[in-house]
Amino acid sequence: MFFDSHCHLDRVDLGGFNDSFDELLSTIEQAGCTRMLCIGVNLESFDAMHQRIEPYQHIYCSAGVHPDYEDVQEPTVEQLCALATRDKVVAIGETGLDYFHQSGDLDWQRERFVTHIEAARECGLPLVIHTRDAREDTLKLLRKHEAHKVGGVLHCFTEDWEMARAAIDLGFYISISGIVTFHQAQNVRDMAQQIPLERLLIETDAPWLSPAPHRGKTNHPGRVRLVAEKLAEIRGESLASLANATFDNANRLFGLN
Ligand SMILES: [Zn+2]
Ligand SMILES: [Zn+2]
Repeated sequence: MFFDSHCHLDRVDLGGFNDSFDELLSTIEQAGCTRMLCIGVNLESFDAMHQRIEPYQHIYCSAGVHPDYEDVQEPTVEQLCALATRDKVVAIGETGLDYFHQSGDLDWQRERFVTHIEAARECGLPLVIHTRDAREDTLKLLRKHEAHKVGGVLHCFTEDWEMARAAIDLGFYISISGIVTFHQAQNVRDMAQQIPLERLLIETDAPWLSPAPHRGKTNHPGRVRLVAEKLAEIRGESLASLANATFDNANRLFGLN
C-alpha cells in the first residue's frame, strides 16, 4: 500500500477515465495507492478542491498558496488558519521559494513563505514546501521562523544531499517524485539513496512529472508505485519495506492513524 504524499488530484484530466472521478479513484486503488494528500495551490481554488475530495475517507488535503502564482490573492495567517480548521486539512502549503521559475524582485515570495510558516506554527500543522534553486534562503527562513516546531516535508526534492541533510536535521521529511525515474536524474538517485528511511516520503505531483515509462503523459497517484519501485531498487530495499515505511512516515507527519 502506498501513500502519495503530494498530488493535485483535482487537476488530473479525467479524459482518460471516461470523465469519471470515481473511475480515476478506482484506477489509483488498483495500483495499490490507498492514501493521498491533495495539495492546495491558491485560495481561489480551495473550495472546489475541498469539495472534490471531502467525500473520500482516504484523501486528505492541504491549504496554501504556491510560490509560482504571482497574480493571486495573497493569504494572511488568519485566512490560512481558518482553512486549517476545515475537515480533512492536515498541512499548510504548498509554499516555499522557487528561484528557477520566478525571477526579479522576489520579496513577495519570501513574505508569502513566512506567512505560511507563521500560520503552520499558529495552527500546529506541518508545512508542505516547494523549493527550487533557493537552497540558502529556504533554510534561512525555516530556521529564522522556527519551522522546526511544526516540521513538514520538502516535496519533489531535487536539490543536493547537503540541503536534504540540513532539512532533515531541522526535523523535516524529504519527498521523492517520479523524477527519480528519469534517465538524466542521476543526481536525484544519488541523493535519494542517502535519505534515512524514517524520513523518506514518496509522491507523484500528479498530474505532472509522470514517471518512466509514462514520461510526458498525464500522471495520476497510482503511478506512485513506479516511484517506490525505483527507490527500492536503488536503495537495495524490498518494495514492501519501502512502501510500509513511507506510508507510516506520511501518517506520522500528517497526524493520521
Ligand atoms: Zn511543488
Ligand atoms: Zn505541487
